[in-house]
Amino acid sequence: MNKEYDLIVVGGGPAGATATLYAQKLGLSVLLLDKAKFPRDKICGDALSGKSVAVLRDLGFLEEVEKLPGAFIQKVVFGSPKNIAVHIDMKSALRNEPPKGFVIRRKILDAFLFEKAKRQATTCLEETKVSDLISENGTVRGVITEARDGTRQEFRGRIVLGADGYNSVVARKLGMYDHDPEHWIVALRCYYRNVKDLTNQIELHYVDEVIPGYFWIFPLEDGYANVGIGMLHKSMKEQKVDLKLALRKAIESPAFKQRFAEAEAMEEPAGWNLPVGSKHRPNHGNGFMLLGDAAGLIDPFTGEGIGNAMYSGRFAAEVARLAIDKNDVSAAVLAEYDRRLWSAIGNELHVSTKLQRIGRIRFLLNLVIHKAARSRHVSEIIAGMLANEVPRKQLANPLFYLKLIFS
Ligand SMILES: Cc1cc2nc3c(=O)[nH]c(=O)nc-3n(C[C@H](O)[C@H](O)[C@H](O)COP(=O)(O)OP(=O)(O)OC[C@H]3O[C@@H](n4cnc5c(N)ncnc54)[C@H](O)[C@@H]3O)c2cc1C
Repeated sequence: MNKEYDLIVVGGGPAGATATLYAQKLGLSVLLLDKAKFPRDKICGDALSGKSVAVLRDLGFLEEVEKLPGAFIQKVVFGSPKNIAVHIDMKSALRNEPPKGFVIRRKILDAFLFEKAKRQATTCLEETKVSDLISENGTVRGVITEARDGTRQEFRGRIVLGADGYNSVVARKLGMYDHDPEHWIVALRCYYRNVKDLTNQIELHYVDEVIPGYFWIFPLEDGYANVGIGMLHKSMKEQKVDLKLALRKAIESPAFKQRFAEAEAMEEPAGWNLPVGSKHRPNHGNGFMLLGDAAGLIDPFTGEGIGNAMYSGRFAAEVARLAIDKNDVSAAVLAEYDRRLWSAIGNELHVSTKLQRIGRIRFLLNLVIHKAARSRHVSEIIAGMLANEVPRKQLANPLFYLKLIFS
């Protein structure tokens, strides 16, 4: 039997690394566990915007992150099924600051964050998979791990944080794993090189091949690009969409054919799951909290999950400190995590759910994007929203859409 930690963090992705870093600042002892050996890949669009950048800044890492290989982003392009695009310039949304959005391969970003967290954790073990939880009297009290050589160990912690991604073992063991195709996106990523016309912009194209969903082209370092396609799982099943085929069709469609004429795929397209926050899933209980993808916090409209994962890491660390100070790790006290998290991101997720619904109707999608393409006011609101400077509350107002449609 090992010593008892304040926190056991299962998973060292953006959620778990952030939780570890804030927990250390708050004076908590942390055992950080990951089944992988870093650097490891994670299938993703690799884009970092508003919230991720805000947390990186708060942690004091922004200058170092700017020097990592990747691309610096100043614009976001939303393309309609009819291939009309609205160009959102992030510069106009940020009053006094230079725009800060990045595309950085997760293999690089996650290794950077994990290394920082590893240095701050009391103990950090890689290649150590959590296979089960230890529970006593209805409270989670620790974890059972399995190393690569099959060695099993038990660790005790006052609180366990499940930051182990969409397929979370912590959530599964607690009966909280929830693969609901209505609130779940499936996506493919493929790194390319020599895609034409890559600039300082990320592009989300709402193409006919995947409604609701999108095809993305994000620039990377040295002429590389992160290209991918994703779709709501329920619609994918109903429409019997083959995502690999949809990706090929999008690339070969008249709108993109020229840009991919000399492009070379650097890998086979690889898939991953995105549990989205169009549903408010339970995320805590006696002795545990679920973070990031394990709690299903991905934005249902943009597919962004890194920022919300990092936010959840920060709130979980703060609430863990509070609970330990009270000497009470019950669900009643840890409910404060849910309150803080959803008051920070709930409204935005709600609005994105509405936007995703619009995205299910081709006619509306064309209408909204075409109007936005012509309206400076609308594109500025969207820019502010993406930069995390304008609350998405404006978009929650039905009048916004009426004005958009009739303007
Ligand atoms: C195709 C695709 C494109 C995306 N594009 C973007 C984008 O451009 N921008 C954006 O912000 N978000 C994007 N997302 C979402 C984003 O990738 C996730 O929301 C984000 O990775 C969540 O971070 P996390 O720390 O919760 O989980 P993860 O990043 O999945 O990290 C979980 C960690 O837990 C470890 N782990 C798992 N099981 C165990 C276990 N049993 N024991 C120990 N360790 C374990 C894993 O090794 C991993 O290191 C995309 C997702 C997909 C699938």
